[in-house]
Amino acid sequence: MRDETKCLHSGYTPKNAEPRVLPIVQSTTYYYDSAEDIGKVFDDPSVSLIYSRFENPTVMAVEEKIAALEGGLAAMCASSGQMASMLAILNLCNAGDSFISTSAIYGGTVNLFAHSLRKLGIECIFVDGDADEDEILAAFKPNTKAVFGETLANPALTVLDIEKMAKIAHSKNVPLIVDNTFPTPILCKPFQYGVDIIIHSTSKYMDGHALQVGGVIVDSGNFDWTKGDFPGLTQPDVTYHGITYTDTYGKLAYILKARMQLMRDFGAYPSAHAGFLLNLGLETLALRMERYCQSGLRVAEYFQASNKIESVRYPGLPGDKYYSLAQKYFKGASGVVTVNVKGGREAAMRFMDNLKIASNQVHVADIRTCVQHPASSTHRQLTDEQLTAAGVSPGTVRFSVGLEHIDDILEDIEQALR
Ligand SMILES: *Cc1c(COP(=O)(O)O)cnc(C)c1O
Repeated sequence: MRDETKCLHSGYTPKNAEPRVLPIVQSTTYYYDSAEDIGKVFDDPSVSLIYSRFENPTVMAVEEKIAALEGGLAAMCASSGQMASMLAILNLCNAGDSFISTSAIYGGTVNLFAHSLRKLGIECIFVDGDADEDEILAAFKPNTKAVFGETLANPALTVLDIEKMAKIAHSKNVPLIVDNTFPTPILCKPFQYGVDIIIHSTSKYMDGHALQVGGVIVDSGNFDWTKGDFPGLTQPDVTYHGITYTDTYGKLAYILKARMQLMRDFGAYPSAHAGFLLNLGLETLALRMERYCQSGLRVAEYFQASNKIESVRYPGLPGDKYYSLAQKYFKGASGVVTVNVKGGREAAMRFMDNLKIASNQVHVADIRTCVQHPASSTHRQLTDEQLTAAGVSPGTVRFSVGLEHIDDILEDIEQALR
């Protein structure tokens, strides 16, 4: 199946006389005929359902759909993109370990990596994703367990050189994890370029309608954990009768450990209803991404031609610093455009306040056009140095093109700039 078809048909196939639409299985628990049957499930929790703190049929159908779209082996949803990032790292790193991340990433992820994970004893080493191989290799420590980056960074719109990063990570026997939120699997297939684990904030284009926050981890199944130093995966787990994930589950080791150990213990699993809504968004994802890319380019071109705009960042724009990487890795550059308005912070905020159709909101990749000022909101906690590293300046406005008629969007921009 192609992506458009997977969006509609992967994950749930009704049998004779069953509901045509993915049902909402609203139940915390699952019935068994005997205590012995339940005992068997505890012996191998991958065979049947136990409890909705970490598995639910509605959510699992969505996981299968997302795994199919990414071309991965399996996926696990989480209650937010933040939780997906955190679990992706905690599944590999213990206190005393480190991992590498590019610095041009989402502001919330910077907080999580630089501060909250540090309190748990896990160090994030930030590197410039554009640096050459030797410089990034020099950042590794003996305890480094993963490399992390965003395929298309929010809000910097830098494009990760995925193959370069995969080569670096693999030369050190650690996996490359990417956040593929902005391109979605419709525009970018990171596994084809050597990525091992993908995470998403499904709150953005995947849900698409700004209905509910969510996240997902997708496992390619390709990384050989026995080649690196990952005792959590290659040595017995006392909390599961001494199961060794790599021995028992092979290619599914990483994603099953994430579910059966971390999700079981932390319980940040989406509700069935959240899964149902996410599925509804995914059904139109391929169609929507096409239009976001078309309109995104038109808006970027409009800004580029305007004398009220200092600079435009849109990797789909010829001449953009990341144009060639975007051509290589992406089918389109999404609907997110960042601009620096002439006149800095004050002019940027006035421009935003004067928009009539595009709304001010702490969100991006919504079906409705929206704008946001990173320096005073999502990135407010960052120091100037971190701001620059994240590709943000005081006059930066993140413009997220929605599905309104393109002429209405452009006319709104025109009157607001005036
Ligand atoms: C929004 C976002 C996140 C965080 O996701 P939530 O669902 O808001 O927790 C992570 N990465 C990127 C690229 C994002 O845009």
